[in-house]
Amino acid sequence: MERLKIQNKQKKILNQDVTKVAVAYGDGIGPEIMDATLRILNAAGANIQPEKIEIGEKVYLSGNSSGIEKSTWEIINRNKLILKAPITTPQGKGYKSLNVTLRKSLGLFANVRPVIAYAPYVETNFANMDVVIVRENEEDLYAGIEHQQTQDVVQCLKLITRPGCEKIVRYAFEYAKAYGRKKVTCMVKDNIMKLTDGLFHNVFKEIALEYPEIESNSQIIDIGSARLAATPQNYDVIVTSNLYGDIISDIAAEIAGSVGMAGSANIGTNVAMFEAIHGSAPDIAGQKIANPSGLLNAAIMLLSHVGKTQIADTIKNAWLKTLEDGYHTVDVYQENITKEIVSTGEFATRVIENLGKLPKQLKVSKLADGKGEIKIPEYIRKEQHQVLVGVDIFIDWKGKNPNEIGDTLNNIKSFKMKLKMITNRGVKVYPDGLPETYCTDHWRCRFVDIDSKIDGDKIYNEVDFEKIIALQSILHHKGFKVIKTENLYEFDGKRGFSLGQGE
Ligand code: NAD
Repeated sequence: MERLKIQNKQKKILNQDVTKVAVAYGDGIGPEIMDATLRILNAAGANIQPEKIEIGEKVYLSGNSSGIEKSTWEIINRNKLILKAPITTPQGKGYKSLNVTLRKSLGLFANVRPVIAYAPYVETNFANMDVVIVRENEEDLYAGIEHQQTQDVVQCLKLITRPGCEKIVRYAFEYAKAYGRKKVTCMVKDNIMKLTDGLFHNVFKEIALEYPEIESNSQIIDIGSARLAATPQNYDVIVTSNLYGDIISDIAAEIAGSVGMAGSANIGTNVAMFEAIHGSAPDIAGQKIANPSGLLNAAIMLLSHVGKTQIADTIKNAWLKTLEDGYHTVDVYQENITKEIVSTGEFATRVIENLGKLPKQLKVSKLADGKGEIKIPEYIRKEQHQVLVGVDIFIDWKGKNPNEIGDTLNNIKSFKMKLKMITNRGVKVYPDGLPETYCTDHWRCRFVDIDSKIDGDKIYNEVDFEKIIALQSILHHKGFKVIKTENLYEFDGKRGFSLGQGE
């Protein structure tokens, strides 16, 4: 009892603390919805100390292609929290996505998007939907490493790292624990991408063992997203990698009917950024009709992130009550449900009037029941024994017949490595390929040590890196166009590369 009293007292103090926040008013409807949001936060006693930052359209158009000034980084680092209204990226080439820049520069590794249905006050077919999507935010195909390698072939590197997987998966479980959620579902495509998505899945299985009180399961992303669209009420927390997370969080927001209502958080180790999921809506800017709910929900996430869960609940419940009362901005108008269409400012006033009241139909927000803040431990790399066992040399060759390039490479005797196989677009075409396989000008030629014994997918001999360099030099002098190489390694005796399809 005494402990509970102390905890409550600590919560009270925390709820009264000043919270410094870098505030970006954004473009289009941004300033209108930010004013409304800050008014509500002030009225609720959130004790926010905003420091204005200028990012977005104005900065872009001043000739700064990144959309952010150098001095703004200092303000962000000083405040550690950002509340950001949507910004407009001007049309035309050369403007870098500010969102990607902020996420990557600040190490905002987790994108957290709660997607909740507010039926019948917001139209949806899924009244019981209440899902949180935790999306990895920095890696995967979004690393943006792309190359054109031959006339026919371009490539985008999908980078998945163990520290990245550990951070995001642990965050998902910690989030579930902190917010009283019961289940975490992992979505991957490791039946195809055995190494990259396989790593994400393996880390998920490892970390799930540390949270026996939380149910965990895994689904292949294609069937997972189909089921999410059909039966979203069966999901609680979903954790997934960057691209899949990007897609399913939009599907989820759309079917919840809440694209204009949802907020999202971008969480890093030192800095966190909170924003609405919608854009700057230039079509309605200045009309004072924009719905401030998305940004307000983002601000509620900010408050609970810093431990001001009681104030977050007070605001959320007042907002839910306002929806129930039927005071709606025009975007969520429904005949027989909406009592009055209100402006952005009037909506904020209605929410302020409801502070301290609870909704009657919609689920009461109880963030303050959560078990505390989320801490992610630092990554510790475990040493592994790494052995070089071969190389994939990618060759640009305009011929059509795989046997021609295969036999030629096989007959080059002057080096200490031998050809194991050739694939084209991942399919084995030499030796013993099928004539039906379509071949482009991009040939992956796998070489291993000349004396290597090969047993299934196991290669026994270690390769000296010098031999790989010498091999490339020989191929070059024989007229082959080497476009890239990938070394083949084993880590602690386990193959660190995929086999060719049909190998
Ligand atoms: P949008 O989300 O701005 O607008 C889509 C539609 O939804 C429009 O009809 C708009 O009027 C409506 N809408 C959006 N938010 C609303 C709200 N709060 N209240 C009422 N109606 C709302 O998407 P868009 O038109 O594709 O993009 C406009 C600009 O926003 C572009 O420059 C885009 O790059 C930018 N954008 C920014 C962010 C961000 O800063 N996080 C995100 C998405 C798009």
